[in-house]
Amino acid sequence: MMLTSFVPQMRRWMLWGLLVVLVLTMLSTLVWLAGRYEVTQVQSRIERDAADAVSDIRTALTRNVQSLQALQYADRGAIPWTQDAQVLLREHREWMRLELRDTDLRILKSADSPFRSPVFNRFGRDVNQPEVVHACGVATRQAGPGYGASAYVPQADGLGVEVMDLCLPVIIDGKLTGYTVATYSLAEMLVNMVGQQLTRRQEVSFTESDGTRLAMHGTALRGSRVFIAKQLLDLPGHTMVLRMDSWRGAPDLFPNVLTALVTAMAIALVTVLVMLARDMRRRQRVELDLANALAFRKAMEDSLVTGLRARDKQGKITYVNPAFCEMVGFEAQELIGRGVPAPYWPPEMVDEYGQRQALRLAGNAPPRLGAESVFMRKNGERFPVMIFEAPLINALGEQTGWMGAVLDVSEQRRVEEVSRASQERLQATARLATVGEMASLLSHELNQPLAAISSYATGSLNLLQDAAKTDPHLVESLGSAIQRIGQQAERAGKVIKSVHDFVRRRDQAREAVTPRALLDDVMPLVSLQARKLGVRVVVNCAADLPAVLCDRTMVEQVLLNLTRNGMQAMTSDTTHKLLTLSVRPAASNATNRWMEFTVADVGQGIPEGVSEKLFTPFFTTKAEGMGLGLSLCRTVVEQHGGFLSHHANVPSGTVFSFTLPQSSLEA
Ligand code: ADP
Repeated sequence: MMLTSFVPQMRRWMLWGLLVVLVLTMLSTLVWLAGRYEVTQVQSRIERDAADAVSDIRTALTRNVQSLQALQYADRGAIPWTQDAQVLLREHREWMRLELRDTDLRILKSADSPFRSPVFNRFGRDVNQPEVVHACGVATRQAGPGYGASAYVPQADGLGVEVMDLCLPVIIDGKLTGYTVATYSLAEMLVNMVGQQLTRRQEVSFTESDGTRLAMHGTALRGSRVFIAKQLLDLPGHTMVLRMDSWRGAPDLFPNVLTALVTAMAIALVTVLVMLARDMRRRQRVELDLANALAFRKAMEDSLVTGLRARDKQGKITYVNPAFCEMVGFEAQELIGRGVPAPYWPPEMVDEYGQRQALRLAGNAPPRLGAESVFMRKNGERFPVMIFEAPLINALGEQTGWMGAVLDVSEQRRVEEVSRASQERLQATARLATVGEMASLLSHELNQPLAAISSYATGSLNLLQDAAKTDPHLVESLGSAIQRIGQQAERAGKVIKSVHDFVRRRDQAREAVTPRALLDDVMPLVSLQARKLGVRVVVNCAADLPAVLCDRTMVEQVLLNLTRNGMQAMTSDTTHKLLTLSVRPAASNATNRWMEFTVADVGQGIPEGVSEKLFTPFFTTKAEGMGLGLSLCRTVVEQHGGFLSHHANVPSGTVFSFTLPQSSLEA
């Protein structure tokens, strides 16, 4: 659990780290590139400036050569050389001195710059003679201007001046007559020959090729960054390097607007990213909470045993929970989106339910009241339900439909039914107990009057026998009638006694009775019922069958019960209602021989499920039945040691048969 949450978290942090590193790299690259761009800009500008300065100097030098050439012809004109040279020196501050020399380089005439003390005053002009010789040598060879190497000339004030000689051959009528030598001050060259705009922001200097500084000019601003450009000043006879130094202040953090803008945008981007990330995290948290709440709700709905069903205002089903699906046997997708009639409405109820729904949708039905209804499962089975409807309100407080909680009450109804039936049975049993009690009392009460009737009958018979002498015919018929009264009273007495015994659970008195006698006794009652139900009764019983040992009254009761059941099983759709009563000797064992009684009907037969419960007390399929008949029959037969069984009749109906032991005595 810990590990699973740890890994994605680490990955997220790694991604964030990567993003930050990328943004930082991008920013620093941008700053660095911008800085570099600016450096190359500055460098190329200074290179350009240096080239401009060199070109300025060249131009000025060329012009100066022309001025000097003009001077060569001075002596031939009206103005003397010296005067002319003075004018030139006033105009050209870069010149320190002008000389006119003969072909052997001896100084003929000379003039010094009026702006400072003569340069060569301290150590004399000869010190620089080698440079002059070199320059004039070059000039002679090239028949044009020649420059000597620069030289340092110390001054009286302790300082010195770096000078350079220019030698121009004086050629008159094609003949070399001498040389004009001009001495340049290198420092003044820089001041006067290089454009002011170039020296204002940077330092310009002349250096030897090895880097030795000869002269310099310009603002020596100091800064941490120095840009240097070097240009060769290639003069006939001498080569110098023009060097330009430019200083930059402390490097700018944001070298230009672009970088600043990009940085600001990047910062904004990162801020937005951070805000987004925060928002995302919050959103994720909310989503997680929501998912939890949803899962909780789903678990709750799924665990419900109450069916939930939501419908929109048009009556279309929008939601059902698993309990509802299980209840009606349809899948959720078979239900959702279905309108009127719903698939679980029994077809015979569609009209009624449709009206009820229209009423509810119109808003006229009281909500939350439970209503009982009948739904249909997918297999067509109907079942009762309780429905509780409540309006479905959305987040905006509007009603969007109805939510119904549906309870399957079929089990409840079944339990109610069972308890009602068992209640009825209980009452019946109580009634039966009372009847038993009363029967016991009655038998006690009736015994005496019956005995009285019997003895009165006997007395009457005796009297009649005396009277027989007068009218024998009448007496005979009356006598037999009274005899029958006596017999019947006795029989009633026995019935009552046996009921009494039965209720008192005493051992019944067994006697040997022929099957024929047993059947004769029950036939009047059987025929009575058979006439009423339209049943033909056939009796198969040989007259000479041996007697059985039994409690006569109880066995008669068994016969009555079985014949009644058989006749009732033949309903109005049985075409030839026929009940067959037969008696025959059954298979015997060593100790006992048996007689088998069968009662066969051609009725509806006994269904599979019923057959097992047949002998259970109080089991009945009849509306009026008590369900005690067969259970009583079995008890009676088994008390006699016999066996009660049943099997299906062919082609229809049921055969009930029971055995009774044959009597060893002769009846
Ligand atoms: P009762 O007759 O009061 O219902 P019984 O114990 O006699 O009670 O019978 C129990 C049930 O057995 C009857 O309700 C009936 O469904 C079934 N039954 C009994 N005899 C027959 C028969 N001959 N044919 C079909 N069903 C029978």
